[in-house]
Amino acid sequence: MAEVTHDLLIVGGGPIGMACAISAQKAGLNAIVLEKGALVNSLFNYPLYMTFFSTAERLEIGGIPFNCLAPKPGRQEALDYYRNIQRYFKLDIRLFEKVASISKSEMGFDVKSEKANYTAKNVVIATGFYDIPLYMGIPGESLPHVSHYFREAHEFAFRKVVVVGANNSSVDAALECWRKGADVTMVIRKGEINDRVKYWVKPDMENRISEGSIKAYFNSCVTEIREGEVDIENADGTTTIQTDFVLALTGYQPDFKFLDDAGVTLSADVSRAPTHDPETMETNIPGLYLAGVVCGGMETHKWFIENSRIHADLIVQDILKKS
Ligand SMILES: Cc1cc2nc3c(=O)[nH]c(=O)nc-3n(C[C@H](O)[C@H](O)[C@H](O)COP(=O)(O)OP(=O)(O)OC[C@H]3O[C@@H](n4cnc5c(N)ncnc54)[C@H](O)[C@@H]3O)c2cc1C
Repeated sequence: MAEVTHDLLIVGGGPIGMACAISAQKAGLNAIVLEKGALVNSLFNYPLYMTFFSTAERLEIGGIPFNCLAPKPGRQEALDYYRNIQRYFKLDIRLFEKVASISKSEMGFDVKSEKANYTAKNVVIATGFYDIPLYMGIPGESLPHVSHYFREAHEFAFRKVVVVGANNSSVDAALECWRKGADVTMVIRKGEINDRVKYWVKPDMENRISEGSIKAYFNSCVTEIREGEVDIENADGTTTIQTDFVLALTGYQPDFKFLDDAGVTLSADVSRAPTHDPETMETNIPGLYLAGVVCGGMETHKWFIENSRIHADLIVQDILKKS
C-alpha cells in the first residue's frame, strides 16, 4: 500500500497537540498525532486531586465548552473533557507510540516511532516538559523512597516526609500531605515561598510554616539522601534529619535531546528555549514547528494551556499560506 504523506504530523497528544490536530482538521489538512502514552498523558500523571489554576473556559480547545461545576476544574474533569474532545473530533491519534526521531527528507520529513515510519510535509513538536525532572544530582536521589512526582498523600499519612522545593507542585504536595496527617519538613533553596505560587494558596503555606505545623529550612538544599535520613546544608552548616520519604519536586524540563536531534537550535542562554518565530511557531527548520509549553525551554512557567492554545492556528495558517 502506497505510504501516505501526511500534511501534518504532531508529536505529542497533550492539550496543545490536540488543538493543533483540530485546527488542521478544520482546515481540511490530513493530520496525525503520535502520543507515547495515554491521551493527555501529562495531565494523567498530575497529582490525583490537583485543581487547575485556570478556570475551565481557559482550558478549552477546538471551541468546545468545558462545563464544570466549580470555577476551576480538577484533574478528573480535565481528563473527561479532553476525552470528549477526542470522541467529538475523532482525531487520528496513535496512543502509546513514542516518536524516536524526526529527519528532513525529499517529501518533507521522515518520522520514526517505536512502531512505524511516517512521512509528513510538516511536523509539530508538542512534547511538553513534564516527563523529565530537574534532578538535584546528589547521592541517594534514585533511592526507592525518593520521588520527583506527587500522586496523592495517603501513603505519607503519619510518616515523616521531606518536600524539596517552593513552587506550586511542592507547596500543594506539602499542604496535602500535612492535611492527611504527615509530618512535613520543607527544604527551600531561597529565603521564601516562590512568588509564582497560586495567590490563594501562598498565605496558607506561609501560615502553616509560621505557626510551626510544617517545618521549613530556607536558604537550604539537600546534599545527600540515605535510607531514613537526609543531609541539609545552609549557612549554619550541615543538619541531618530523619525522614521516611523524600518528595523532590524540583521542577521539570523539556526533552532537549529530542529537539537537538531534530535539528532545532536551542538558545545559548539559561532558558535553552528552542528557536522559533513567535508569529508562525516555525523553528529554524522550515516546516518544523513547536507548540505548547515546550516552547519555553527551561522557563516552564512561561507557557501553559491558557496562552499556548493559539499556537495551533498560527501553525495551520502558516502551512495554508505556503501551500
Ligand atoms: C500540576 C500542574 C498544574 C497545571 N495547571 C495549569 C493550569 O491551571 N492552567 C494552564 O493553562 N496550565 C496548567 N499547567 C500547565 C499545563 O497543564 C501543561 O503544561 C500542559 O500540559 C501543556 O500542554 P502541552 O500539550 O504543551 O504539553 P503536555 O500536556 O505535556 O503534552 C505533551 C505530550 O507529549 C507526549 N510526548 C512527549 N515526548 C513524546 C515523544 N517522543 N513521542 C510521542 N509523544 C511524546 C507526552 O506524553 C505528553 O502527552 C499545569 C501544569 C502542572 C504540572
